[in-house]
Amino acid sequence: MITITLLGTGSPIPDPNRAGPATLIQAGEENYLVDAGRGVLMRLSAAGCGANMLNGVLITHLHSDHITDLNDVITSAWITTFAEQKPLQIIGPPGTKEIVDRLLHFLSFDIKYRIDHHEDLNEPPAVTVTEIESGVVELEGNVRISTEPTDHRPVAPTIAFRFDYGNDAVVVAGDTIPCAGLDKLCNGAKGLVHTVIRKDIIENIPLQRLQDVCDYHSSVEEASQTAERAGIETLTLTHYVPAFPSGQEEEWREIAAQYFSGTIELGDDLHRVEIGE
Ligand SMILES: [Zn+2]
Ligand SMILES: [Zn+2]
Repeated sequence: MITITLLGTGSPIPDPNRAGPATLIQAGEENYLVDAGRGVLMRLSAAGCGANMLNGVLITHLHSDHITDLNDVITSAWITTFAEQKPLQIIGPPGTKEIVDRLLHFLSFDIKYRIDHHEDLNEPPAVTVTEIESGVVELEGNVRISTEPTDHRPVAPTIAFRFDYGNDAVVVAGDTIPCAGLDKLCNGAKGLVHTVIRKDIIENIPLQRLQDVCDYHSSVEEASQTAERAGIETLTLTHYVPAFPSGQEEEWREIAAQYFSGTIELGDDLHRVEIGE
């Protein structure tokens, strides 16, 4: 069985009830974080997991809403590991290494304070970054993780991740329009987590900067068609723009159901979905 927890169902727009984009994937004893948006560690702790328990941090793309709290993940994994530091594994598209290097630079004052103050803390955060655009992610563990490029242009490169565990597979897509890479990754998977926006609403808001976001995201309709095409059993929608009030997801579900015949999951932060046996 693979468990999906929507840690943050929000978007770049600050929301009192929705943290920024982040999803927890758990299988066996392993915990994988996909994206690290606003408030990720608060939600992760609510899900019973800590930064020091992560087997990998997987980044779909370098848009700010998906990485605002990556520095917090790095710091917290570092200072809450009391045994020997094992590197925090960060996997993302090309550019991720430079981002992490700059975050470590941004954290350099804090890193020095803590090393100076704690006798048992002698090294800066141990972080390993792997940049990838396609293929199998080399990580220890029983979950096989693979990736393919998605299409969120002009943001490029962007990637989605597939988690295979036993007979189950779940794909987590970041922001993307329908594309061949995502179709390939979804082929034969049981679960898909997909970010969506309501283009039917946003297109009618007379603000060009909002309307701009329509051309590089999937609508609810498009994400549902992607899931249907691949024979996905359970589609989990997240990254709601505009966010709906808690408990008012029915309209979104009805739109998805017009294009997707499987189970549709959406809701608030910490919504949990179990895939497989
Ligand atoms: Zn994005
Ligand atoms: Zn986004």
